[in-house]
Amino acid sequence: MKEHLFQQLDSIYEEIVEIRRYLHQHPELSFEEVETPAYIANYHQKLGHDVRTQVGGRGVVATLKGGKPGPTVALRADFDALPIQDEKDVPYKSKVDGVMHACGHDGHTASLLGLATVLNQMKEQLAGTVVFIHQHAEEYAPGGAIEMINDGCLEGVDVIFGTHLWATEPLGKIQYRVGPVMAAVDRFEIEIIGHGGHGAEPHLTKDAIVTASQLVVHLQQLVSRRVNPLQSAVLSIGSFDARNAFNVIANSAKLVGTVRTFDESIRDHFEEEIKRVIDGTCIANQVTANYDYFRGYPAVVNHEYETNQLVKAANDVPGVNTLEDMEPKMGGEDFAYYLQHVKGSFFFTGAKHPDWDVSYPHHHPKFDIDERSLLLAAKTLGSATLDYLKG
Ligand code: MN
Repeated sequence: MKEHLFQQLDSIYEEIVEIRRYLHQHPELSFEEVETPAYIANYHQKLGHDVRTQVGGRGVVATLKGGKPGPTVALRADFDALPIQDEKDVPYKSKVDGVMHACGHDGHTASLLGLATVLNQMKEQLAGTVVFIHQHAEEYAPGGAIEMINDGCLEGVDVIFGTHLWATEPLGKIQYRVGPVMAAVDRFEIEIIGHGGHGAEPHLTKDAIVTASQLVVHLQQLVSRRVNPLQSAVLSIGSFDARNAFNVIANSAKLVGTVRTFDESIRDHFEEEIKRVIDGTCIANQVTANYDYFRGYPAVVNHEYETNQLVKAANDVPGVNTLEDMEPKMGGEDFAYYLQHVKGSFFFTGAKHPDWDVSYPHHHPKFDIDERSLLLAAKTLGSATLDYLKG
């Protein structure tokens, strides 16, 4: 049955590439997707699948019922693009100024639609149900996943799989990991309110820049002194804003930063510890502060059994030559929410062309993929699906 699935996918490779290139030329931003979900819904309707649109806002959920009873496998692909100008010189470059599929979500969608076509051809032999979850707005918190789940996209689902194409890993490689694979992504803002004045009379002021500078340094110690060295966290300050004249002591200063963690208890801890450091620094400097901590996506935590199943399934795929137990990535993904509700696994599919010296990273204006990765992603997801639905 798998051999047949792989052959059928090979036979529609050109169509999969065509879908990817069409979507690549017509990217839509997170929470603004209109044509893309319509295109996806139409595609599934033509296959005769049961289709729900506007799931959780802009998501599309299509259901394929197999000929025999069995479990329900969900497969997820996101479909939003980014506010980046496409700088590639290719015939399929973006036609929308300032918007680009610079993370490969066009490829995720094309892969899943191709797989839907082939699984549909095999439906009489399938023991169970396949739910295709096409998610809007992965790039922009709060993201589409949480709303789609609230709107029932996981109802009746026993297991979920998803993949991310990865342009800096070679074609033929599949990366997997049991446990945390991507980080929780949080953002914080701190505004220091001092008392400004003349640069020549510091004793009459409360210097917001000096206080904020101390905070930048003190906050770095949270990772080194408050986190178990065998666990991990990142705290980075990405913005320090206190514009002023050369002879003026700043009245206020603003810091914006990010915290990345894998463990919920460390995450909670950070939110409080940052507050403590701010309070102490402000007391010492006789200033006040406004502090906001915004929680983004939680960590993506893969389930053990399902990840092992995925590895077995990937092993069956011709063209997959490397299966790598990967290091976790400090980036985030709202696939995290699905895994909080059902068992499953999120893995990475290498998409770097063997002849490319340079491969541009995700979110780069020249980002691109080796399109043969679309086939490997579809085959791996299909192989895992068949393992669950073979009765
Ligand atoms: Mn992405």
